[in-house]
Amino acid sequence: MTRLYSDAHLHLTSLAENAVEAVLSGPDSMLCSSAFTLKEWQELCSIEEAVKGDVRILKAFGIHPQNPDIEGLEILEKLLSESGTGAPDAIGEAGYDFFTKVFEAQEKQQDEAWYGQLELAATYGKPLVVHLRHAVDRMFRDASILKKVPSVIFHSFPGSPLEAEALRKRGINAYFSFGKPVMNKRKNSIECVQKLPDEWIFFETDAPFQTLKGETSTQIADIARIFEVAALLRGYGITVESAENQEGLQSGPEKLAAIAGANFRKAYMLD
Ligand SMILES: [Zn+2]
Repeated sequence: MTRLYSDAHLHLTSLAENAVEAVLSGPDSMLCSSAFTLKEWQELCSIEEAVKGDVRILKAFGIHPQNPDIEGLEILEKLLSESGTGAPDAIGEAGYDFFTKVFEAQEKQQDEAWYGQLELAATYGKPLVVHLRHAVDRMFRDASILKKVPSVIFHSFPGSPLEAEALRKRGINAYFSFGKPVMNKRKNSIECVQKLPDEWIFFETDAPFQTLKGETSTQIADIARIFEVAALLRGYGITVESAENQEGLQSGPEKLAAIAGANFRKAYMLD
């Protein structure tokens, strides 16, 4: 059985240099890493080059709502206009963050960065990775534009299962990704992991960020723990049926990894 761990969102350029090679060696490993500056983008391209063949690294470029530097839009458009492997596979993380007063005060800049990236995602037909804190309502406001984007990946989705369903009902090709908040007992994340249909979910580390209490950083390898916890929450395990049929024997995390891997391929348009 091939182990297939996909990580829908992380930051390779914020991790130690050898982090990727040391951990991800499975032929079916897939991940999407975000870069926010030209320097990070170039570092990400070098990492991808170094691990070619072993891990499928997708590269996203975006303007993070915590640092809505509009100059990033120009860089993004230039990268998108380069055809072939040099262009970003996805845009983001883009979105809104109203977690602190400082972030709240940047609403105008966040708007500009958001709409700029939204438009580029629709124009270039790229998946959009979305970061949201205290801002799920903005997605309903902009549903008619989000519908034009081929796929919308809500990283560490903060909303409830009902909100997730409502976003899909509004015609958005939405996928919902979950990471350590599930282990940090965040109610909405846990309920989403329990209740959302197989077709909409996948998982992420957001490494090196989104730590558990007492941790200083999240590592790529932590994706295995996230799959273990999520599989338990979804009630996946070895059933009597699967145990009788040895060929189909699959552990809970393996079953979930296959589901998440298929969704990763769809959300990031690899199929
Ligand atoms: Zn992130």
